[in-house]
Amino acid sequence: LQEMERVVLENKQNGEIGGGSRILVFVRLRPMGKKERESGSRCCVRIVNRRDIYLTEFATENDYLRLKRLRGRHFTFDASFPDSTTQLEVYSTTTAELVEAVLEGRNGSVFCYGATGAGKTYTMLGTVENPGVMVLAMKDLFNKIRQRSCDGNHVVHLSYLEVYNETVRDLLSPGRPLVLREDKQVMALLQQGNQNRTTEPTRANETSSRSHAILQVMVEYRVKDASNNVVNRVGKLSLIDLAGSERALATDQRTLRSLEGANINKSLLALSSCINALVEGKKHIPFRNSKLTQLLKDSLGGACNTVMIANISPSNHSFGETQNTLHWADRAKEIRTKAYEANEEILQLPESGTDQAKLLLELQKEN
Ligand code: ADP
Ligand code: MG
Repeated sequence: LQEMERVVLENKQNGEIGGGSRILVFVRLRPMGKKERESGSRCCVRIVNRRDIYLTEFATENDYLRLKRLRGRHFTFDASFPDSTTQLEVYSTTTAELVEAVLEGRNGSVFCYGATGAGKTYTMLGTVENPGVMVLAMKDLFNKIRQRSCDGNHVVHLSYLEVYNETVRDLLSPGRPLVLREDKQVMALLQQGNQNRTTEPTRANETSSRSHAILQVMVEYRVKDASNNVVNRVGKLSLIDLAGSERALATDQRTLRSLEGANINKSLLALSSCINALVEGKKHIPFRNSKLTQLLKDSLGGACNTVMIANISPSNHSFGETQNTLHWADRAKEIRTKAYEANEEILQLPESGTDQAKLLLELQKEN
């Protein structure tokens, strides 16, 4: 972990990444599953120095060296997580800084991208024993709020949405926004939400692999600035478990257009189009083309810290999908973001004695 943090820090100091210049791209390799091993799968991914990834169809050192020489597939990312990487390591390397930034009134988003079965949901939601990024981020957020609550008050809003077939569904509390007071119920809430994600058991796999799950956490925070104005800061963190990428792998515009008529995931395609437009520095980014990109308009590129985690399987049976995912991630490295500023507005202090003033006092006391 220290090694990884050092690499990421070094890159940032070199001005190569972060600081609103480009998005961070990480790759996580999952362990080989029992079934895969039993069916004779071999590992076709090799991670070196927690940064470089070599894709090889072969398992032995000699084969690997030969492939590297003849038709090597080499990629490099901000960090590449080997299959032994813990959930906490993934969280602290990819997301912890965004949680910090959200408390300063900035937006941040983390996407998990990859084929079905590559480990996206494990990374985002995780299990009760090994909670993932969504749960660890909420824990961290509430801890940080507790540490800071002496100098202001925070309100945390949370929503967990699903985009499936261009329809947006609330996975938690249909019809009403949820205000969270504590982090304790988060895992239970999200698990329950994820169960809502797959309603038809016979089609469960298909549904979950074609739906996007989006956790959005908005933190409102009131502080006094130097001139004693009350300032309202709002930061938004979006954590996104994307649909399986196996049917929307196009990375260039022409292929994208030819695929548009086919029955593939419109939102995932639209996300790729937006990424292409961002990479090419286009003025018009087609956010309105799908539900997913509409929801993420202020969470992708622009004034936002964006992190991509590409999930891959080690199995040589998934070689093609893995290669496509790595190409996509490689392309995502080129997205430039603007330097960001905190979202804040100056509030008129309510006159003392008014209802608003009383409410403000109450909120301050609660903390
Ligand atoms: P996806 O959401 O991309 O379709 P999942 O997250 O459901 O894939 O992962 C597929 C399977 O692999 C699940 O059984 C999951 O528990 C397991 N898995 C994925 N990543 C890991 C990991 N890093 N460590 C252990 N098991 C993992
Ligand atoms: Mg999943």
